[in-house]
Amino acid sequence: MPISRPDHVLILGGTRDSAHLAGLLTEQGIPVTTSLAGRTRSAKALAGQVRVGGFGGVDGLIAWMKDHGVSHLVDATHPFAAKISHNAYEAAQKGNIPLCRLNRPEWQARDGDAWHHVSDHDSARLALEPYKRVFLAIGRLELAGYSNCRDHWFLMRMIDDPGPIARPDGEIILSRPASAVEDEIHLMDKHRVDCLITKNAGGSASYAKIEAARQLGLPVIMIDRPSLPECFTTESAEGAFDWLTS
Ligand code: NAP
Repeated sequence: MPISRPDHVLILGGTRDSAHLAGLLTEQGIPVTTSLAGRTRSAKALAGQVRVGGFGGVDGLIAWMKDHGVSHLVDATHPFAAKISHNAYEAAQKGNIPLCRLNRPEWQARDGDAWHHVSDHDSARLALEPYKRVFLAIGRLELAGYSNCRDHWFLMRMIDDPGPIARPDGEIILSRPASAVEDEIHLMDKHRVDCLITKNAGGSASYAKIEAARQLGLPVIMIDRPSLPECFTTESAEGAFDWLTS
């Protein structure tokens, strides 16, 4: 059966799934632009057109879509990028553009896991109290919020150098999350970590640390996802591709 062909798909990106979807659409010759916020300095190459930087809020996003003949909008941003997801929802409503949210499934606790669910970084800081050596696996943008936690030592991993920003005491490791559970176990053992703080990003790319904490019997302070307005949502790039082409 022939697929239907959107005129121009705008993907709000910054995730592996968004890159995968751009590839699927480009393979079919469907015009696609991926929009990146421009925060990651070591961004990987993407199929199709790429634009970088904020739109200037909801009105700017609506104007950009109108100027570029966008027929469909896919919000494939990180589950914690709440501002742009709210903007996408409002722009789609006001601009009358069909919207699909591509949101990978959340990680789920298993029997025996010691997860402490919190709703934000403020609550995560409060939950830290019993621990001393913390693996703070939240990236670089929100480190400053932990800079006053003087009773703890932090292992901080991020892709890009955070530069001269306020941050807590501890060690910074510049790397992507390890994909092998043994590597994460080794890292946590080496630094005598007694607790992991992470956002419930979901997906496989950074899951090894969750499995490592499980195997080591370490508590996890799990920051739950922000709530977003309801819209058509799929968990995979293939699901978004089907929505766009059927
Ligand atoms: P955010 O707080 O939701 O958005 C702040 C502002 O940044 C938005 O209002 C928008 O500016 C701009 N923006 C965000 N994503 C954009 C995109 N894809 N294209 C164009 N402008 C964008 O965003 P964030 O949490 O800083 O995340 C920024 C980017 O990093 C996102 O693309 C996200 O997918 C990626 N990312 C985020 C996380 C995380 O934990 N938050 C983790 C990994 C990757 P205007 O209002 O001016 O349009």
